[in-house]
Amino acid sequence: MSNAFATLGLGAGAQRAIAARDYVEPTAVQREAIPAVLAGRDVWACAQTGSGKTAAFALPIIQRCALLPAGAALQALVLVPTRELAQQVAAVCEDFAREATRALKVVSAFGGVSINPQMMALRGGADIVVATPGRLLDLIEHNALRLDEVHTLVLDEADRLFDLGFAEELARVLTGLPVRRQNLLFSATFPEAVHALAEQLLHDPLRIDVPDSVDTTPRITQRAIAVDRARRTPLLRHLIEHEAWPRTLVFTATRYSTEHVADKLRRAGLSATALHGELSQAARAQALEDFKRGRVKILIATDLAARGIDIVELPAVVNYDLPRSTDDYLHRIGRTGRAGASGVAVSFICADNAAHFALIEKRHGLTLTHEVISGFEVTDSAPPPAPGNGGIKGKRPSKKDKLREAAARRFVWPKAPL
Ligand code: AMP
Repeated sequence: MSNAFATLGLGAGAQRAIAARDYVEPTAVQREAIPAVLAGRDVWACAQTGSGKTAAFALPIIQRCALLPAGAALQALVLVPTRELAQQVAAVCEDFAREATRALKVVSAFGGVSINPQMMALRGGADIVVATPGRLLDLIEHNALRLDEVHTLVLDEADRLFDLGFAEELARVLTGLPVRRQNLLFSATFPEAVHALAEQLLHDPLRIDVPDSVDTTPRITQRAIAVDRARRTPLLRHLIEHEAWPRTLVFTATRYSTEHVADKLRRAGLSATALHGELSQAARAQALEDFKRGRVKILIATDLAARGIDIVELPAVVNYDLPRSTDDYLHRIGRTGRAGASGVAVSFICADNAAHFALIEKRHGLTLTHEVISGFEVTDSAPPPAPGNGGIKGKRPSKKDKLREAAARRFVWPKAPL
């Protein structure tokens, strides 16, 4: 293997783990973060999913944990927003830990499932815990683990921790940690709450700003296709067949629409399944497993359910419904074009959400040609700008409402294929 990783200060154990995963070169965030983490520094990293951020913190943390003698106390705590991410990050840590110079125990903990197996897993202690904040607090209340010897804290996808309403739980966890510790903060975006947390949490951090992989990486081709709302499913079928995508991840806005679209595709003879938050944990795991193993070719998911999906070689992501927030757009399209693979991210633009897409484009500095596919020409017309405040009745227009209105006024709906 290349010794590019060795120059970062990683030892033989980490290098075996890297070789087993066929990583040749460190990614940008790994190049910067690994030496800093090994040196015990705090890190403030702006890095997307797909940047290789998990290995950027997992490899050096495991190396450091293995240097300390085995004990029952928890050494490193990784907080993540969702159960899928908890499982995924824990799996990566376990994988790397297998090659460590001393056997390390990694436990994942997340809500929505019985707490008992997690309590059992923590018996006798753990070196590294990867957890969602709510379940972590439950486990502490049950005396299943203590935080008083944690020397490294990782906040992974910190922006999502706030988006998903974990601010209070996070604050409670922080008060239970030793004052002297290493803090690593990874986030795709830095809204005010995350920025404030970073300022408070981090001491003399190394700032890592991995260029926005979406804007600058040619590996992800972004496309916008204008289509009538009612014709989206036939267009989806058409694209899957004509572009011969071996695997497609489709985002819709609601649980109902995931089921509805999956159902229609299945009736057309395609292999599709839905993934949403109201499925049982077992059904979600099954849907993901089927998709990962190629038993199902099309996965129709909501944003929440799709968090943390990590499938190398995911060639196509389709925004059947546009994401609500501009940041979710990045999270979604970051599912494709991962670490060396190439991918396409297609957004369906309908007359009534064109203004919203214009905002997404503006936010990310994009100017995509709005394609029209032959046989799917647009007949719907754009709705007039909302009268009055354009927001919720009785509410003053928010900054976002005003931006949306302004975008709606500027937007010109394409009349013919460009
Ligand atoms: P992450 O951003 O941590 O979710 O990682 C995204 C994907 O990149 C995962 O599938 C990793 O296994 C893969 N990956 C991470 N580091 C490297 C590397 N240095 N070379 C190739 N693939 C990598």
